[in-house]
Parts: sequence; structure tokens; C-alpha cells
Amino acid sequence: MREHDVIIIGGGLAGCRAALEIKRTNPSIDVGLVAKTHPIRSHSVAAQGGIAASLQNVDPDDSWEAHAFDTVKGSDYLADQDAVEILTKEAPGVIIDLEHMGVLFSRLPDGRIAQRAFGGHSHKRTCYAADKTGHAMLHELVNNLRRNQVQVYEEWYVMQLILEEGEAKGVVMYHIKDGELEVVCAKVVMFATGGYGRVFNTTSNDFASTGDGLGMSAVAGVPLEDMEFVQFHPTGLYPVGVLISEAVRGEGAYLINSEGRRFMEDYAPKQMELAPRDITSRSITLEIRAGRGVNLDGSAGGPFVYLDLRHLGEEKIMSRVPFCWEEAHRLVGVDAIYEPMPVRPTAHYCMGGIPVNTSGQVRSGQNGLVEGFFAAGECACVSVHGANRLGSNSLLECVVYGQRTGAAIAQYIQNRKMPEFDAQVYLKRANKQIQSLLEQKGTMRIAKLRQEFQDCMSQHCGVFRTETVMLEGLAKLQQLKEKYGQIYLDDKEKCWNTELIEALELRNIMIVGEMILTSALNRQESRGAHSREDYTSRDDGNFLSHTLAYYSPVGIELNYLPVVINRFEPKERKY
Ligand SMILES: Cc1cc2nc3c(=O)[nH]c(=O)nc-3n(C[C@H](O)[C@H](O)[C@H](O)COP(=O)(O)OP(=O)(O)OC[C@H]3O[C@@H](n4cnc5c(N)ncnc54)[C@H](O)[C@@H]3O)c2cc1C
Repeated sequence: MREHDVIIIGGGLAGCRAALEIKRTNPSIDVGLVAKTHPIRSHSVAAQGGIAASLQNVDPDDSWEAHAFDTVKGSDYLADQDAVEILTKEAPGVIIDLEHMGVLFSRLPDGRIAQRAFGGHSHKRTCYAADKTGHAMLHELVNNLRRNQVQVYEEWYVMQLILEEGEAKGVVMYHIKDGELEVVCAKVVMFATGGYGRVFNTTSNDFASTGDGLGMSAVAGVPLEDMEFVQFHPTGLYPVGVLISEAVRGEGAYLINSEGRRFMEDYAPKQMELAPRDITSRSITLEIRAGRGVNLDGSAGGPFVYLDLRHLGEEKIMSRVPFCWEEAHRLVGVDAIYEPMPVRPTAHYCMGGIPVNTSGQVRSGQNGLVEGFFAAGECACVSVHGANRLGSNSLLECVVYGQRTGAAIAQYIQNRKMPEFDAQVYLKRANKQIQSLLEQKGTMRIAKLRQEFQDCMSQHCGVFRTETVMLEGLAKLQQLKEKYGQIYLDDKEKCWNTELIEALELRNIMIVGEMILTSALNRQESRGAHSREDYTSRDDGNFLSHTLAYYSPVGIELNYLPVVINRFEPKERKY
């Protein structure tokens, strides 16, 4: 059995930022960091458009209060306002810190950090490195892991969270290279395992975004918060679903329907293309439903709308959003300098997650905390995004709450002994789980079951929802769960058995999917990204609260948690 003071699962921005903070606070703390990919390949590296902070470089009227208000309004008043205050107050400081670390932000002519417009933000406050912001940030943070002697376990897959009597004690992990199993014991386990885009059939997320941390926490008895709030990003490139950053609209691109009209004037006349993502995704979906989408031959009635950059001109396109130009060119053969891009909504971001307090410690329910367990980043729900996240607030959350969680962990372990448990029990159990997957005699292919599951989620819990459609989805899901016991693996080897990893991941995305559907079914209102056609308005009287969903193999139980409202009273949301 291996031991570390702290074991962090996840090598994206949140995990790396926490590791760095622990080491900055006390270099003698022994930190291990596990990632199933190489840390540099974490989804954070794909972040494009930028990171928000009221630096006032472009807009002197900006302030943290304005940023906080925009975030709370964007969240449809479901965000916890104490957490939002921390996020927006600490934002300028973390940007300067990143810059001192060596992150190369794009500049204004006078040398200060440039800032651009983003959806739902009332001021130009998004800092960026062209449209490769995540790349610029993650490289510096990963370099800092090495410099600070964090022990990195790359390409190890964490299979189980060890949680006994309300206390996290370690994890079980599997070395993808050779099939070795290890138990790690730690005073603190931190999850920074990212999102779950792969629950849906069309997503902007990478292949590794399978919600493992959420699945493992749920199985261990930890509730998941606000899982019904799934962000569909308005501009996924059709048909592949990869992201065309909101930065493109921030720089002035138009959304156009089959009639050549900027249809956002019908839905958000003030903010137009820079309305928040929930509103813009619904508008696109309604245009497509009304027959004003476009087909590949340019005729009306098709499955996508156009994102038009042509009026921006070659110089601006190539200096501000070169990566988006390249994606459209490489993946669908569109040269955005001369032609509009085909886009439609794509599953993008998980607003909910593992419930944590503002120090990153995991909640065990309405009251109480799990000892030794922390989380930050997209897998956590603190909740700064509520029912709908504003663009460029997620990178900010990873850095602000990664840092805070790291600082809190460094304090917390001073009073904590190395936990005790019987590692053999967990090793045997993990071995048995793997052996039975390898020996299973079924006929179901993993890819087929995964596709059926993803199609089910996209069809039954997409941009618009109704009770009937969701109940059908849950019934289908029960049948699909049974098929999991019939999957057959061709590969029986220990070396690089990616099929086995996919089987383990599939279990997690299926658990996460069931949590999303069940939480969505029980929220009988429309709020932010959760849009019910049978309950079309927001219902503060009954639902101004966070959902807590508890998983068990026989069913999911729900409970609710109050929202922290200490500054901005809920109002109608207009853009
Ligand atoms: C295409 C795209 C563009 C985006 N652009 C922006 C943007 O411009 N601005 C913005 O604010 N947000 C953006 N976002 C959102 C933002 O990038 C993410 O929310 C954020 O980077 C998540 O970081 P993270 O550290 O929480 O997780 P991730 O970066 O996803 O990292 C997760 C880590 O956990 C590891 N892991 C997961 N499961 C296991 C397991 N079982 N065992 C071991 N390791 C595991 C992975 O290997 C990985 O290292 C974008 C997202 C996408 C998909």
C-alpha cells in the first residue's frame, strides 16, 4: 500500500492549482496527483475563450460587484452568493498570480492584459490567450507540479474512493500500462476529476470526461448536487459537436437562420448573440424546430444554424480566434473568412457535482461534512454557477477554488492522523470486479451500449424536457443498466487494456445519467439550463433550493438544500 499526506485525483487546472497551493503553504507535505491521462491532456487544455476577472483594463467601470451580479443573474438566482462573492473578489488577484507564473495572456497595445466581451457579462472582462487560454494556463501549472516535487501518477485509473464511516481514507487505482492495482492511503483525498460530457451523444468534451469522480462519490454514499443543470453550449460545430468558442461571438460574430436573419433579436433584443448560454441554446433549438434551420445544401428546414464571422475580416479572425477557424477548416472544410460555420447546441458543462463548502470540503448532506474529503473544479458544486454558468467563469472557478481548497487542505491535515483500514479487502474487491468484466460471457459490445445510452440521454434529457419524455428515458435506462451485465470484452490483456477502462467508465456515465434524469424529473419548474415544457416558469416558492441526490442500486433519493442569498434578491431575468 502506498501512502501520501494528500492524494489528488485529477491533473486539470483545479487539481494542479490545489497541489501548487499545498506546496506553497508547506513544502514538506507529501502530495501525490493521479490522472488517467497525461495531466497536460486533461480537458482544461482545450479551454478556448478565456477567464473572467474585473481587472478594469478595458472597462474602468467594471467591479467585482458587477461581476458577482452578472454571475448570480446568469445562474437564475440558484448560485450561492457567498461563494460567488469569493469567486469574483479573488479573480483579479489570481490572474496576476497566473501572469507571474508565466501564463502568456494576450495584450492591449499598452502592454496590459487584454479583455474581451462574453455572454451574460455586462462589461468586457474576459482575459484570454487568443483562443487557447486553457493551453497557456495548464502548461504553466503542470510545470509547477514538477518544480514543487509533487509525485505524479500519470495514466493510472482511479476505480474506487475508500470511504468508511463518514471518513475518506484513500483510493484504489489501476495502472493502465500494465494492469497493476494499488491502494493509496491518505490523510486527505481530493477529487478534481472534471466533467461528464460523454453522458450525451454530442459533446464538446474530450473522451475522458466520463464523470468518474461523480460516479465513485455517488457509489460511496456521497450526495450529488444540482445534477439536472447541464449546460448545452450554443455553438457546437455541426455535425461533430466540438466547440466553437463563445469568444467568436464575443468578437462580434452573428447567429443567422435559414432566412439570413439574426434571430437573436426575437429572443434577447438587448444582448443579442451575447445572451447567456441557456437562452441562446434554446433560441437555436426553437429556430431549428420552427423549420428555420439550415441543411448542408443551404436549404431551409435543416438541423443547424449559421455562425457568421465574415464581416470580422481575416486579420481579426486569424489573430483573435485562429483555433476556431482551424477547427472548422479541418473538421468540416469550412473557411470561416468566406463562409458561415454550421453550428447547433452541444453538451458542454456540468453545473452540479460533488457538494462542497467554500473551503472545498465535501458535504455529507444538508448538515455535516465528510472527513478527509475535498473537491474542486468542474466535478465540484460550490455552487457559483447555479442553474446556468456564464462563459469564462469555469476556468476562474478552477483557479480560485483550486487555490482555496489547497490552502484549506494544508491547514486541515495538521490535525489529522493517517487513517487505518484493511487494504486487502479493497484490493480483492477491485481484482474481482476486473476479473468478472474480463470473464463475462455476454454478447453486448461496449461501444453499442454506450451509444444507446448516450442517445437515450440526449433524446430524453436535452435542451427541452417534459415529464413524459423523462419517464420514458428512465424506463429505457433501467433496461440499459441490465445490458451492462452482458457486455463482452475482446481484450483480455493487462497491458493497455483500453476496452476495460471504457467498461469501467461506462458504469460511471450510466450512474451519472440516472442522477441527472431523476433530479430533472423532480424539479417541476424551468430555471436556467433546466427547461421544462410542462412547467415553463421559474417557481421560487417551491424550487429556490439545491437538489441533493443520493444513489443506491435500487433507486435514487432526493433531498433539498437552501440557497445562500445575501446580496441580490431574485428577480425576473431579462437580457
Ligand atoms: C472545449 C472546451 C472549451 C472550454 N472553454 C472554456 C473557456 O474558455 N473558459 C472557461 O471558463 N471554461 C471553459 N471550458 C470549461 C473548462 O475548461 C472546464 O470546466 C475546466 O477546465 C475543468 O477543469 P478541471 O480541472 O475541473 O477538470 P479537467 O481539466 O477535465 O481534468 C480532469 C482530470 O481528472 C482526471 N481523471 C478523471 N477521472 C479520473 C479517474 N477515474 N482516474 C484518474 N484520473 C481521472 C483526468 O485525467 C484529468 O486529469 C471549456 C470546456 C471545453 C470542453
